[in-house]
Amino acid sequence: MPELPEVETVRRGLDKLVKGYRIAAAQQLHPRALKAESIAPLASLAGAKITGTNRRGKFLWLTLDRPYVLVAHQGMSGQFLIHQKSKPRAGHIRAQFNLTKALRSQELVFNDQRTFGWLSLEEVVEDIPTSAAHIAFDPFDPLFDRDRTIQNYQRRNIKIKTALLNQEIMSGVGNIYADETLWRARIHPETSTADLSRKKLITIIESATSVMQEAIEKGGTSFDDLYINVNGESGFFEQSLAVYGQESEPCPSCGAAIKRIIFGARSSHFCPRCQRLPTAR
Ligand SMILES: [Zn+2]
Repeated sequence: MPELPEVETVRRGLDKLVKGYRIAAAQQLHPRALKAESIAPLASLAGAKITGTNRRGKFLWLTLDRPYVLVAHQGMSGQFLIHQKSKPRAGHIRAQFNLTKALRSQELVFNDQRTFGWLSLEEVVEDIPTSAAHIAFDPFDPLFDRDRTIQNYQRRNIKIKTALLNQEIMSGVGNIYADETLWRARIHPETSTADLSRKKLITIIESATSVMQEAIEKGGTSFDDLYINVNGESGFFEQSLAVYGQESEPCPSCGAAIKRIIFGARSSHFCPRCQRLPTAR
């Protein structure tokens, strides 16, 4: 499932490959590809020029020379691909866009095997589309307010893993990066936010930022210009995960076997030696 680093990799790719192009035609090919709240059908994008890209958390959007934007959420498996004539068409195309710029033309498609992703035409308020209005700043946003975020964590009495997944406190962190963040910060995922000091919360926010920054850099290096592809398998996933999906493997720091527990209907991976609950100390 794409998290902030993967979405940011896609945003950078789209910025490079489709900015400045005009949408000659847009077509919806699956009933769920367009969100019910979309203010207009995809076809109405015909004639619009793509002026830029933006992102908040896992919400990505294309800005247009129109009073609305095209928002995309990748869900579990959504991908943007530039169709290459030498390659077979992707198998789960939900929408397609014919793009032109001077004499150049190309086809951008939204491919989504599991159909949890969606597109939507939305108005913006203070530069943010309607569906992302409730999403908090991510730690890369220049407007991210660290002190306020810390206060919002401390005000609650919930497990820190659950808190990190709450996109209304700080956005961008999903299940994978939450586990990696807490391993780096040496915090047990079930620690209550009320038991975390300001200093520990700073460490957690800094760990989340560094782990996602490294993933963005890796996503950037393995990025293929002509094939904007995010399916949760950037180079980072294969090489650098310390705990996520590493059950029974040795902790890269101390060698203890990584444990997996389930709460909040999700798996959490952690090192039982490096990450202890405050009461167990
Ligand atoms: Zn360890």
